[in-house]
Amino acid sequence: MIVMLLNHNVTKKSELTYDILKSEIAPAITTLNQFKAYNNELLLLSFNKIAAKNSIKNTNRMKQISEVELPYLKIKLNELKNISNKNNSKIALIDQLNKYTDSTLLINKTIYNLLQTSKDYTTPSKINKARELSNLKLSNLSFTIENIIVNLQVAYNKEYENYQSELSLQLHNISNFILITSLLGILLGIIVAFFTITSIIKPIKDLEASALRISEGDYNAIVHVKVKGKNELTSLANSFNIMIGKLKQSFNEINSKNKEIENFVYIASHDLQEPLRTINSFSLLLEEQNSEQLDDEAKQYLKFISEAGMRMKDLVVGLMDYGRLGRLGELKALNCNTIVEQVKNDLGNVISKNNATIVIGPLPKLNGYETELRLLFQNLISNAIKFQKPNALVSIKITAEEEANFWKFAVEDNGIGIKEADLEKIFSIFQRLHSREEYEGTGIGLAHCKKIVEIHNGQIWVKSVYNEGSTFYFTISK
Ligand code: ADP
Repeated sequence: MIVMLLNHNVTKKSELTYDILKSEIAPAITTLNQFKAYNNELLLLSFNKIAAKNSIKNTNRMKQISEVELPYLKIKLNELKNISNKNNSKIALIDQLNKYTDSTLLINKTIYNLLQTSKDYTTPSKINKARELSNLKLSNLSFTIENIIVNLQVAYNKEYENYQSELSLQLHNISNFILITSLLGILLGIIVAFFTITSIIKPIKDLEASALRISEGDYNAIVHVKVKGKNELTSLANSFNIMIGKLKQSFNEINSKNKEIENFVYIASHDLQEPLRTINSFSLLLEEQNSEQLDDEAKQYLKFISEAGMRMKDLVVGLMDYGRLGRLGELKALNCNTIVEQVKNDLGNVISKNNATIVIGPLPKLNGYETELRLLFQNLISNAIKFQKPNALVSIKITAEEEANFWKFAVEDNGIGIKEADLEKIFSIFQRLHSREEYEGTGIGLAHCKKIVEIHNGQIWVKSVYNEGSTFYFTISK
């Protein structure tokens, strides 16, 4: 807008200069040049006349200049005088030019009148007078007129230059202004683009970060997208927040249900122990004190009862341990190498009885529940020994790898392996793949492992080749 206004201003100025140039300066310069030429020619013609070159042509030319050309140029000069009424010095010069031109014309006329016939040339009073007029007055006047014309030309040229330099200054200013406003425009464009891009990218990045946190189980990762106004991003952020809210609500509900179930399991297993103890101790008493009163069949039944009672005791204790995991201890800095060494010592008999080799890689120091982690390694190592292939040397390898947010452990064996279809099942409580006759156990060990890993914000899974061996992987968050 401003640029347009300035442009308009400069255009007007240049039009004005052009007008002045066309209507005043250019005609003035032409008129002055003609004036100068006629002035010189007239002087020459009067010299010629005095020198008795009184040809018709000469006389006519004198008449032409003094009666037509010069009066006409005078009119033109006066017109210019009226246009340039502001410039006093020019007006004064034009007035002088008029005055001296009038004198020149008058003297010329006098000379012309003095020397009309050839007789006049021989009349001393006339020819002498004419000579004096032409040599002195006319020459002086012509010289003065020329000077005035030169001065006038200088004045007009100066005026023209002033207009030109003023215009070029204006053009220079406007070009600077256009340059600055263009630069400002570009800068403004960049700033606007920058803010637009950040206002779009920032909320998307926030959404991405929130989504990542939620995927890691942090349901407090409500996205604080500060998007102003109503647009697709605001609705996306709002829907996202509603979704997190719902997820958090469901998660809390599941959590509290889980807690209820865990409490129930804990209390039930705890309360079941007392009647179980009674059953087991009375069947033992019956066996020890009253066995001679019982026949063989009754003795056999009694044996079934006490065996089932003992198994049930194992199950209930396992269940109670399951409920207790992560309840009592507290997180502390642990060295996994030390823990695995202790487990190796605890399982010393089993290991040496089975001739098992255990290779332990460098293991990390981390924050965890000590009792639980010991139980985790103990279950995995004892399973690796228990589920060995007949007639093969047991070989176990325990390693750990560092990842960005967690440690990844691997417990590898060369045992019987697990069929693909059973890989998921084995982590469920009381889930076993073999009969008691084949392999002892309650089916609670891996369920313990799963819970222990989960209270360390990790995951557990197994890869296995049936008949060749299995590798149990688990992660513990840093
Ligand atoms: P348990 O050892 O008391 O049977 P677990 O929960 O420890 O119960 O194991 C569940 C089942 O998973 C086992 O019965 C066994 O079939 C299978 N299993 C566990 N560890 C291994 C292993 N290292 N190799 C092969 N099978 C395994």
